[in-house]
Amino acid sequence: MTPTGANVKLGLVIDLDTCVGCHACATACKEWNGASAISGPLADYDPYGAEPSGVWFNRIRHYEVGTHPDSKTINFPMSCLHCEEAACVSVCPTGASYKRSDGIVLVDQDKCMGCNLCAWACPYGARELDRCSGTMKKCTLCVDRIYDERLPEEERQPACVLACPTHARHFGDFADPESNVSTLTRERGGFGLLSELGYAPVNQYLPPRDVPAVATAPASAVQAGEGGGAGALSRLIARARAVLAG
Ligand code: SF4
Ligand code: SF4
Repeated sequence: MTPTGANVKLGLVIDLDTCVGCHACATACKEWNGASAISGPLADYDPYGAEPSGVWFNRIRHYEVGTHPDSKTINFPMSCLHCEEAACVSVCPTGASYKRSDGIVLVDQDKCMGCNLCAWACPYGARELDRCSGTMKKCTLCVDRIYDERLPEEERQPACVLACPTHARHFGDFADPESNVSTLTRERGGFGLLSELGYAPVNQYLPPRDVPAVATAPASAVQAGEGGGAGALSRLIARARAVLAG
């Protein structure tokens, strides 16, 4: 159940070790929020053209780290981090951008005039100006489903969390030190993106795990034919793991 009360800090933990970059979270987000009375519809520009684009609250970036052949792909989902010191809120001239007592940062569509100041202020590029409505939009942490008591309790989570096939996304209350998100962050060395900037992002990322070393047969033994197929297989596995460890 989504926690309520005075001391609540809702957010996400995103596991960079298990994210496979499939974009399921992004499309589930677009589907839910596009139909939401709070944020929808979400514009698409030239959807069937050569360069389709539109309003997406969650974008997955892909980085190649290291040099081939010892390189590794990191899939990096990015959305609003619901900062505690939210720059987007402090610059908004109309009061449209605000932070709720449960930690969620929202944009009041009736107050937004689309001046774009918040998009310039946000260091994470998390704001999306909808050219059709002329207003700013962003991740709402699916505020219209996490408290919806008509849904089964296990479904009162952001759409991205429910859609992720590798369970790389976790939703919970960071104000509770024993919550799932606090425990994961503590145990896996979670970090806030660019925390040195001082905006205190609530969402946390879990770093890719180190890959354990695999014992292999000495090269001389392999060259001499000792170990046969098993030795070659060990070398192949070790090679693959070394590449993944990047
Ligand atoms: Fe605002 Fe950007 Fe922080 Fe989200 S990530 S709260 S849009 S400053
Ligand atoms: Fe505020 Fe809207 Fe301007 Fe952003 S675009 S600063 S939410 S009025």
